[in-house]
Amino acid sequence: MLEKTFNYDSIIGMETKENYINIVGAGPSGLTAAIVLAKHGYKPRVYEMSPNVGHRMNGDFQGLENWSSDSDITVLLRDIGIDINFMCIPYYGGDIYAPKIAPLIIKSEKPIFYLVKRGADNYDSLDNGLKEQAVYCGAEIFFNRRVDSFEGKTIIAGGPKRAGFIAVGITFETETKNLASVIFNDEIAPKGYAYLLINNGFGTMATVIYKDFKNAKKYFKNLIDFFNNKKNIDIKNKKKFGGYGNFLIRDTNVFGKKIYIGESAGFQDYLWGFGLRYAILSGYLAAMSIITGSDYDYLWKKEVRPMMKTSLVNRYLIEKFGDFGYRYIAKKFAEGNPLNFLKRNYNPSFLKNFLFPIVKKKYKVYGNL
Ligand SMILES: Cc1cc2nc3c(=O)[nH]c(=O)nc-3n(C[C@H](O)[C@H](O)[C@H](O)COP(=O)(O)OP(=O)(O)OC[C@H]3O[C@@H](n4cnc5c(N)ncnc54)[C@H](O)[C@@H]3O)c2cc1C
Repeated sequence: MLEKTFNYDSIIGMETKENYINIVGAGPSGLTAAIVLAKHGYKPRVYEMSPNVGHRMNGDFQGLENWSSDSDITVLLRDIGIDINFMCIPYYGGDIYAPKIAPLIIKSEKPIFYLVKRGADNYDSLDNGLKEQAVYCGAEIFFNRRVDSFEGKTIIAGGPKRAGFIAVGITFETETKNLASVIFNDEIAPKGYAYLLINNGFGTMATVIYKDFKNAKKYFKNLIDFFNNKKNIDIKNKKKFGGYGNFLIRDTNVFGKKIYIGESAGFQDYLWGFGLRYAILSGYLAAMSIITGSDYDYLWKKEVRPMMKTSLVNRYLIEKFGDFGYRYIAKKFAEGNPLNFLKRNYNPSFLKNFLFPIVKKKYKVYGNL
């Protein structure tokens, strides 16, 4: 897809440009934009209100999804100029729990997702890796600098501003062997899902909730009880973490000289919150729109919006079908090729395009708010 979007010949010879571009926010989207711009001779200045990158996260594991494109996500990252200088471990399966059925095993020949670490405290986190690359390429990053307005071309990469879903979890040390588990159960994660990821002595357990936020503590306790019953996991030195995600499909993400990317543009996977891919991709697209003089709105509408529209329909369907839907997904994951199933459902189809106009009326996530 991306290969067709840009005429790479047109950017040859731009390496000596002395243009300064402001970027607000040093999350994955802002840092990706900074890396790509700096590699093309621009001078990105990234302003981050926190003392370091990844401040919103706390050493938790996240999954870089590997299902929505044919190409492996690590290849796509390299193609857009991002090196894998951070922990990025392929996971090929795990187990899955849904109401009233026995746990099922998921297996895939290709990685379903890559495990990455978030936050500033781990040298091998995604955030530190991107920071290192941005600085190495010549971007300047100013920490403890909250900025709310700028003159000149500015990329806004400030993350979510409201909660479409919330996540509550812990990170911990453990002697339990590596595993990945996912749970669909409204008593633990209303309309969302919960997960347990363990890798080489470290674990992350969290519930991702789309309804009834005020009872998040209760759902998290149910999650702990669930795993105490099902698995014998030792948990040491636990630390709490949490956060939220924002989904919004705007008519435009260009406001004067401001270009919105990542979650500040509302780019998210509304089904399950796998927003990293959108953050990185939109950072790249914003940078390329500046480098090539192309229309950013055209680019994100072509590369990001179709999957977001599909994810809105997916959200509607999962909320509508409840436990039946959870069992259906669990069985589909386990019985065939989970990557194919995910890819088919994350990408637009005739049915989902047909349902979209009906579904969008049910969610206040469309247009400029
Ligand atoms: C608990 C949790 C688990 C998740 N798990 C996954 C997962 O497994 N897989 C996945 O793909 N996605 C996951 N996500 C989503 C993913 O983390 C986000 O989509 C992604 O981080 C968005 O990147 P971003 O750059 O748009 O925003 P952010 O990562 O939020 O970065 C924005 C940055 O901007 C800074 N900032 C904000 N305002 C200002 C300002 N005015 N001035 C200066 N700086 C400012 C903030 O401090 C922050 O550092 C998860 C999210 C949460 C909360």
